[in-house]
Amino acid sequence: MTFLSILISLIFTWGLGLALPLLLRYKFLKRPVSKGIAFLVVFLVYFVQFFISLLAGNEGRHTALGLVAIVNFGILNKGYAEYLIKKSVYGKEEIPKDLDLEGHKNCPNCQNEVHINATICNKCNKEITASI
Ligand SMILES: [Zn+2]
Repeated sequence: MTFLSILISLIFTWGLGLALPLLLRYKFLKRPVSKGIAFLVVFLVYFVQFFISLLAGNEGRHTALGLVAIVNFGILNKGYAEYLIKKSVYGKEEIPKDLDLEGHKNCPNCQNEVHINATICNKCNKEITASI
């Protein structure tokens, strides 16, 4: 294998492999998906890449494609549990912009970052309701 062919192989495997899940997660859906949907997308990407690499005559790429699949699954599914909590607390369409994906929200009074389930701010001691 020449350096160029290794480079092309890397771009094909990782660039192409991560593109669809990254676009889905951060551009189109802008949220994590369930394990089932993540698995479906990952499987689809894996299958397409596997098929292309078969056509290209590179059959020794299973390991790299497997790694891409694992990373893709993480990209798509990570933070889904927190997403479900937000959804159940705020409803699907009313997720506040100041609520980040790690399960925190900002106190409406002093903007202090508190846990998503917090009812009293630990900085200003004001009550925090779910209807920020
Ligand atoms: Zn506060």
